[in-house]
Amino acid sequence: MRTLLTNGSVYSPADPHATAIAFDDGVVTWLGDDTGAGPYADGADEVIDLDGKLVTPAFVDAHVHTAGTGAALIGLDLTGTKSLTEALDKLAAYAATLPADAVIDSAGWDETIWPEGRPPTAVELDRAGGGRRVYLSRIDGHSGVISSALIPVAEGDGFDPSGRVERGANHRVRDALGDLIGPEQRRQEIEAALRAMAAKGIGAFHEMAAPHIGPIWELPIVRELAEQLGLSATLYWGEPGAFEHLGTYGLAGLAGDLNADGAIGSRTAALREPYADRADHRGHAYLTPEQIAEHVITCTERNVQAGFHCIGDQAMDNIARGFELAAEKVGIQALVAARHRLEHVEMVDEATIATLARCGVVASVQPMFDGLWGGPDGMYAERVGDRWHGMNPFGSLARAGVVLAFGSDAPVTELGGWEAVRAAAFHHEPSERITVRAAFQAHTRGGWRAAGIDDAGVLAPSTAATYAIWQTDADLVVQTPDERVAAWSTDPRAGVPVLPDLSQGTPACVRTVVGGRVVYEAEGWSQ
Ligand SMILES: [Zn+2]
Ligand SMILES: [Zn+2]
Repeated sequence: MRTLLTNGSVYSPADPHATAIAFDDGVVTWLGDDTGAGPYADGADEVIDLDGKLVTPAFVDAHVHTAGTGAALIGLDLTGTKSLTEALDKLAAYAATLPADAVIDSAGWDETIWPEGRPPTAVELDRAGGGRRVYLSRIDGHSGVISSALIPVAEGDGFDPSGRVERGANHRVRDALGDLIGPEQRRQEIEAALRAMAAKGIGAFHEMAAPHIGPIWELPIVRELAEQLGLSATLYWGEPGAFEHLGTYGLAGLAGDLNADGAIGSRTAALREPYADRADHRGHAYLTPEQIAEHVITCTERNVQAGFHCIGDQAMDNIARGFELAAEKVGIQALVAARHRLEHVEMVDEATIATLARCGVVASVQPMFDGLWGGPDGMYAERVGDRWHGMNPFGSLARAGVVLAFGSDAPVTELGGWEAVRAAAFHHEPSERITVRAAFQAHTRGGWRAAGIDDAGVLAPSTAATYAIWQTDADLVVQTPDERVAAWSTDPRAGVPVLPDLSQGTPACVRTVVGGRVVYEAEGWSQ
């Protein structure tokens, strides 16, 4: 099967001026100028005139929760609700469509943007939900509220009689929901999430499963549906010592959301100094440096990728210390070879960044966290004051040589590769911006590298035909934080491949292909 695309713009380091590309049986066989495409048209099964469209490697979303993402797509989604009243109204309208014994598992509320400034209570959920079992996760997934019917499973550590759950209580509720909701509904949700990814030019994703997020039986469903739809799935399970699951579930590692702490929005991220909006409270570290070291050591010795969810500066200190202890035991080279990964890495100082670089750790980061919550008036500033300036330091990480992989943490932020690239390039803190090109690389090649694959995420002869085709009216440029560099780089002699000017809008995906297989196609796009 041969496909030839002509008259477009092909993003490739192999030829910055390529306008055409040929694929044979799932592999790039040639790219170059339209005038050289002639021989590849002979015998092609499909020749498409791109009419100026852009071809790039497909995005890799390095941090997704597919069931939760799908639940928000096809169920109740409270993301963006502007008041507590609106959220309760939405819940009431949704609940009214469901049987009385239904379980409602929804997410996305953020009390920091509500005039009421507080989460809903169990009593309010009882009223709006008509007495049904209701769990509403806060947008960051690290706390939530439950209706009275769920209180028996929540009671204990982390439960507040108002209905708010965090830490252990949040985990117990999520655990119970997994079994209450069951595989049929999960299957529908996961499929919806995979279809949404394909439609956004995301050809590969890393599923960040963990005991506190959902039952492990979700993983075979994710794998089966990904195979059915043609997406590349990399599965992680965040549980220390769970080596028995590696083979059973085909895991890439014991990494992902293995929580070293919580999240800023829920005030469960572990901080060195108290939260700005709650004196004497410094969040919660869930793992000691010794526990972190133990996980890294046991994984490294088995050549298994280890990793953690880590956000606050205290948690990052624990992580750095844990990796140092592990290095003393197994040696730096073994750590580098195992290519461990860390999720979020939001409040990290120079010393810790240097440790991560030395240990060859990949930083799996979410640029939309800064996009949504950074800046002087954002949620981070409310929670941690001036410390927001140093958060999500993509520029510092990249300058230190830490490999960056981008993800959405969907449903925490929406799926969307270009949105993340734009957020990194236009970081609220100017010194932490990276170029559009570096950001794009973090969202393509970086994702593959985070999964231990070094030769993917780029379009060049003999690489996989894993790509997306984009409709964009924006100028194709080299966009950097420094305008003088941008002006120089658009000179064709600079030989730098170009990407859309993201200040002029977001490219729309018209086709996504993974290993030669079309996994998404916009209707009638090539006519
Ligand atoms: Zn996480
Ligand atoms: Zn996550």
